[in-house]
Amino acid sequence: MKYLYILGAAGSIGRQTLDVIKEDPKQFYLIGLSLGSHDDINDQILQDVQPEIVSLKYENQIERYQKRYPHITFVAGEEGLIKLATYPKHGLFMNAISGSAGLLPTVKAIESKKDIALANKETLVIAGDIINELIKKHGVHLYPVDSEHSSIWQLLRGEDLSDIDKLVITASGGSFRDLSREELKNVTKKDALKHPNWSMGDKITIDSATMMNKGLEVIEAHHLFHLPYHQIETVLHRESLIHGLIFLKDSTIKASLASSDMRIPIAYALYYPERRVHHAPLSLTDLHFQPMDFKRYPLLELAYKVGERGGILPTVMNAANEAAVKLFLEDHITFIEIEKIVFDAVEHATQIQQPTLEDILRVNKEIQNDILRQYEKR
Ligand code: NAD
Ligand code: MG
Repeated sequence: MKYLYILGAAGSIGRQTLDVIKEDPKQFYLIGLSLGSHDDINDQILQDVQPEIVSLKYENQIERYQKRYPHITFVAGEEGLIKLATYPKHGLFMNAISGSAGLLPTVKAIESKKDIALANKETLVIAGDIINELIKKHGVHLYPVDSEHSSIWQLLRGEDLSDIDKLVITASGGSFRDLSREELKNVTKKDALKHPNWSMGDKITIDSATMMNKGLEVIEAHHLFHLPYHQIETVLHRESLIHGLIFLKDSTIKASLASSDMRIPIAYALYYPERRVHHAPLSLTDLHFQPMDFKRYPLLELAYKVGERGGILPTVMNAANEAAVKLFLEDHITFIEIEKIVFDAVEHATQIQQPTLEDILRVNKEIQNDILRQYEKR
């Protein structure tokens, strides 16, 4: 039996993780999970599963839940996430919350010797070096859940890193892939939230439309697979059927294909090294590739530069993007202004070459607060 925690269980990845374990209930024991602010979704989940500990979004939710579910221990807020991470029972820690809030729980879970299944890519973007050190120090495993990274992880099994020429992660192009930059000036939030291939949380759907998501994934891949940035490429592939490719030095190319169903990479991380039965048929009709255009997607080019320069800059870029996406989703700025805000923040940033965890958390908060303050007033 596998013991499991799920952070962000009410979100898109969280609920698909629950789907995977529901199909095979004898295989899993759910120790703890974190939920969000939507009571209806939370109730639906708690009617199905009985974890030992649940972290709610807000303190004032606790009383009602405690009455309704007396056998569960309820905690809340940021502190609640840390209590899950440090709960004294071993288990795989699935981190599926969105944004930089995922960092500290990942750190604490590693320090309490839990293996990590990581959907929360922001953790690696802003603190990849620190996470890699911690993993080594505490002897735990970190399994990627992001579909592209799951595919590269599978492709690398049995290969020697010195035999790899490069790895390639694919991008669907997001909601506005058929629009020119000129046409981006008039797009709405509703349009931005319609992803052609995947149904995901709002933040990552906007990040896919700006191509920031692929930029974050390049940095994520660098930290997961320990390759320099010039060996990590991206390509536009509209169908999202090939998720990753590796090019080997004997000119062999290995590609990993699967239908656009996040339960496949989620289950791979949960069952690793075994494979479970899951039917998601894939038709191999037309596969298209298109080279990436950095002029069309400047945030992707920025992510490469920021990744190369390292230090505190990935934190600055990620924080500015997180604040900008929030402002866009709350109708304070236009879509195209997301880019401007991220570029401005990186341009004006003061570099810290080897930031500590405290530096990362402080700069993350400062940058987000500054940007929110400046634009919310407009
Ligand atoms: P989502 O918005 O659907 O769900 C995120 C959940 O996290 C929500 O339930 C929310 O309540 C919770 N959350 C957010 N901030 C929190 C905080 N400060 N404290 C407590 N809870 C908080 O997002 P998602 O699409 O499931 O994405 C989750 C993560 O997985 C992101 O990092 C995303 O980039 C990554 N990811 C998602 C997909 C996908 O298909 N959805 C694919 C690859 C990677
Ligand atoms: Mg991805």
